[in-house]
Amino acid sequence: MQDWPLRVMRLVDHAEREHGNQEIVGATGEEIVRTTWGQVARDGRRMAQGLERMGLKPGDRIATLAMNSIRHLTSWYGAIGMGGVLHTINPRLFDEQLAYIGNHAEDRVLLYDKAFKPIVERLKPEWKTIEQYICFEEDFDSWVASEDGDYRWVEGDERDPCGLCYTSGTTGNPKGVLYEHRSTMLHTYAEVSPDCFDLSAQAVVLPIVPMFHANAWGIPWAAPMTGCKLVLSSDYRPAQMCNLFHEEKVSHSAGVPTVWLGMIEHIEKTGEDLGALKTVTIGGSAAPRAMIEWFRGKGIKVGHAWGMTELSPIGTVGSPPARWEEMSDEEQLDYCCKQGRSLFGVELKIVDDDGNELPRDGVASGRLLTRGYWVVKRYFKAEEDAVDEDCWFDTGDVAAIHPDGTLQITDRSKDVIKSGGEWISSIELENAAVGCPGVLEAAAIGIAHPKWDERPLLVCVRDEGSNVCADEVRDFLVAHVAKWWLPDAVEFVDELPHSATGKLSKKTLREQFKDYRFA
Ligand code: ADP
Repeated sequence: MQDWPLRVMRLVDHAEREHGNQEIVGATGEEIVRTTWGQVARDGRRMAQGLERMGLKPGDRIATLAMNSIRHLTSWYGAIGMGGVLHTINPRLFDEQLAYIGNHAEDRVLLYDKAFKPIVERLKPEWKTIEQYICFEEDFDSWVASEDGDYRWVEGDERDPCGLCYTSGTTGNPKGVLYEHRSTMLHTYAEVSPDCFDLSAQAVVLPIVPMFHANAWGIPWAAPMTGCKLVLSSDYRPAQMCNLFHEEKVSHSAGVPTVWLGMIEHIEKTGEDLGALKTVTIGGSAAPRAMIEWFRGKGIKVGHAWGMTELSPIGTVGSPPARWEEMSDEEQLDYCCKQGRSLFGVELKIVDDDGNELPRDGVASGRLLTRGYWVVKRYFKAEEDAVDEDCWFDTGDVAAIHPDGTLQITDRSKDVIKSGGEWISSIELENAAVGCPGVLEAAAIGIAHPKWDERPLLVCVRDEGSNVCADEVRDFLVAHVAKWWLPDAVEFVDELPHSATGKLSKKTLREQFKDYRFA
């Protein structure tokens, strides 16, 4: 058989050749621009030429600091097309982290959105290796247009690196995950399948996940593989999104629960709908039951996914199992609330604190380990592998695995609430709490307790106009969680802290409540 290296640039070559006129839509606020896979490929070649003219060499890191847009997409293919390593930087990180990762990655070029110019100006003195700064709105088009595009992508080994993403991490410096052409391609093959994103040439996909967050979950790679229409928006405000869902006839979308929370609230308030949306993938944090139920009520299929930057990022997706039709509504909902089953190419196991494998009985819960084609082995520039001798990577999550292979994340290992030697899942408490009428968002953290070691405190944000009180929340929870899990107190705040990737930041919350004592 022929020996074709698995190289990312084949994706855009294929899309240009076979789906050259397929639309790609870019939305910035009210402004909508359109291009095609053909144009992205042509501009990508011009950009790659431009990078070579600047003296960039294969393996060099080319960074982006940008929201989702057509120019950003083009730059991905331009950067990798010249053999470079695309380093997508999360603009929501703190200055200190931004300075660190730019220097650690040794980025040579930075392409950025005009909106992030203040960040760039602030950090220029800190970044020691960046030689060229290119503003997408001001410099990119003329730079690209100045090349003739007579260019062939750099070829190479499928194990060459093509991307670099840093995960924020809760302790120490951010860690870089260096994606390879091969791992990215295998991940992409898995992603388009019916049991994952279910993409095809008929699909219209709108990722509501930033391109700097684990490559928008790989959707900009999956789209050209299938030739589907891709919609990119720099703006996640629900009204804007709803508009795009309608105007562009979006069939598939993906995002973290926080994004969908805002969307659901908007729709409930305005009476709008999600147009032709058929499938939504929710991941990044646990999707609350009430959210899954809401989508199902609208006839929209929910794929609850678990993953992490270290997994490129998809590990599991809750696509319908065998005999789905025979399951009752309640059983289907129960299934969707768990994190799904692993895709071919990713293996999972749970272990106790001594590393002994625990049974897949849906009861035992332990540290979740994973390994596979697109799982990290060693962080960028690290001196040691991040895996054990059998290549198992410790995810930092605590989970149970059910007999049918369904994963159930019970917590982050640092977020579980340890009460009297037993563990309380903060995720389950939160998810139950958001089912309570009047509660918009909830976070559970452990507060030091003289007798039990820790006891749960539930911090809630009320729905607009609601005056739900602590007793009502507790009464609601009685029917949904074990009695000893009931929070010792419920507090209300106007807003909960979120991390740079839109997740609840328990670390910040614990900090805010560090002097809290139960009455
Ligand atoms: P960061 O560490 O910067 O948040 P990631 O986005 O890679 O970066 O986070 C991965 C983590 O997010 C996982 O280890 C897990 O704790 C959590 N997570 C992802 N998807 C889910 C899910 N469906 N349910 C519960 N937790 C999830």
